Amino acid sequence: NAVVHWYKCDLRTKDNHALHLASEKAKSKGVPLICMYIVSPQDFEAHLTAPVRVDFILRTLEVLKADLAKLDIPLYVETVEKRKKIPQRVLELLEEWGANHLYTNVEYEVDELRREAKLVRGCLEKGIAMDAVADTCVVSPGELSSGSGKQYAVYSPWYRAWMAHCSGKPSLLDLFDAPQKNPSNARHQFLNLFASSIPETPENKRITSEEKKRFGSMWPAGEDAAHERLKKFTKDRIGGYQARRNFPAEIGTSSLSCHFACGSLSARTAVHTARENNSTKKLDGGDPGIQTWISEIAWRDFYKHVLANWPYVCMNKPFKPEYTNITWEYNQEHFRAWCEGKTGYPIVDAAMRQLNHAGWMHNRCRMIVGSFLAKHLLLDWRMGERYFMEHLIDGDFASNNGGWGFSASTGVDPQPYFRIFNPLLQSEKFDIDGDYIRKWVPELEGIKGKAIHDPYDRGNAKEAEKAGYPKRIVDHKASRERCLTRYKEGLGRE
Ligand code: FAD
Repeated sequence: NAVVHWYKCDLRTKDNHALHLASEKAKSKGVPLICMYIVSPQDFEAHLTAPVRVDFILRTLEVLKADLAKLDIPLYVETVEKRKKIPQRVLELLEEWGANHLYTNVEYEVDELRREAKLVRGCLEKGIAMDAVADTCVVSPGELSSGSGKQYAVYSPWYRAWMAHCSGKPSLLDLFDAPQKNPSNARHQFLNLFASSIPETPENKRITSEEKKRFGSMWPAGEDAAHERLKKFTKDRIGGYQARRNFPAEIGTSSLSCHFACGSLSARTAVHTARENNSTKKLDGGDPGIQTWISEIAWRDFYKHVLANWPYVCMNKPFKPEYTNITWEYNQEHFRAWCEGKTGYPIVDAAMRQLNHAGWMHNRCRMIVGSFLAKHLLLDWRMGERYFMEHLIDGDFASNNGGWGFSASTGVDPQPYFRIFNPLLQSEKFDIDGDYIRKWVPELEGIKGKAIHDPYDRGNAKEAEKAGYPKRIVDHKASRERCLTRYKEGLGRE
């Protein structure tokens, strides 16, 4: 007899809802707890999981395996090639281990819900109990609805309801204890599971040893590393978060997104810690930096809520159906220039090169490049959404889809389509001295002063050309006009 916890995007021991329940159940029954993780290369491929993210997940699993082993809990990791086979294989493993209770945390994407539904049926047939519980959000999808019973489709009223809900129910931020130690004979009983190793995947094999080293030092994996980063951020930078978070040349944000995405840190722990650091010891009021940071984590909850309530966003459809009729461009040269950071717009190019090098991009820049792709280049926003997933260490369907909906004005945000970011103004405002551009676009290092934002028109064109910096692939004013016309046509407006 045993109780099993199935890990997915919750790769931690502390503050893990399903893992905690599994441990309690195992203890009450006096049986061991076994943890498992299924590596699905087909899932990685279907979900466009970036090699840098797969590498991060596998490194996190290594750390998790060691953390669990300290509690005499085995983490068994197995590759299942065909994702359709996952429920079947999970059932086989449960039977093999003589387990009669399975715990897992819910994922809200459509494929994942279908997989879980299959597993629920399989468990029922075999007389195995299964608990799938909410964990990934502070306020889970389904908990909030407006006075009239409708689902919120706009962030601000949703956030007010989120804050009121959390403030009225402080226990939402109580953290779940890590699992208890297994009975001492578990190690002997499951020797083969303890001895199993973390497999490689095709995505992971695609990254070079130089990249492996770079990502390893840029993005230390595991929950201790996540807690260390959270601690440092709340000690040194959260106070200045509101003022500094929009400047990509600074380390003004937490860089914790990769940990939230694979679950080596819970959103609950983050908000709990922020609250503890607030002068009021409450969620609202107090330090503006803390307030703003909490509201950013709430964005993550919001986009999961959108995904759960409007699941068609998982099927390549815009949140606003009326935006389906926009005629997009599919100019491959433009797309390549965007991907490679060679558009001739320094802030866009710096951002794309940061993404390609680090697997991460600053939020302000994600908005700038997103708007540039959808509005200036009029490329189908799904091409950008896809490229982001293929390159981000923190790739998360809900947040990425939400961010692209925001950038292309096709999503939940109420901003009208005619709000088009001007990349030159954004650059001057948020990379005032051009330090971010100089870091990521070394050809422009020698361009002095404000000319860095626009080296051909306002700077030394000869110098930029000599350094091999590309000319603008589109003109700002003309693309803006084209975009407005095209959106109007698509929406059937005069
Ligand atoms: P911080 O500023 O420290 O914020 C703390 C946490 O709050 C983040 O780690 C993240 O979990 C959450 N958060 C912050 N801003 C947002 C936001 N706008 N939407 C949702 N959650 C937010 N975030 C992802 O985690 N995965 C993605 O795939 C992703 N794709 C994006 C695509 C586009 C086009 C845009 C505009 C934004 C995207 N974001 C995504 C949101 C945001 O850019 C990142 O969460 C943030 O840059 C991560 O850096 P950080 O951890 O330093 O954030």
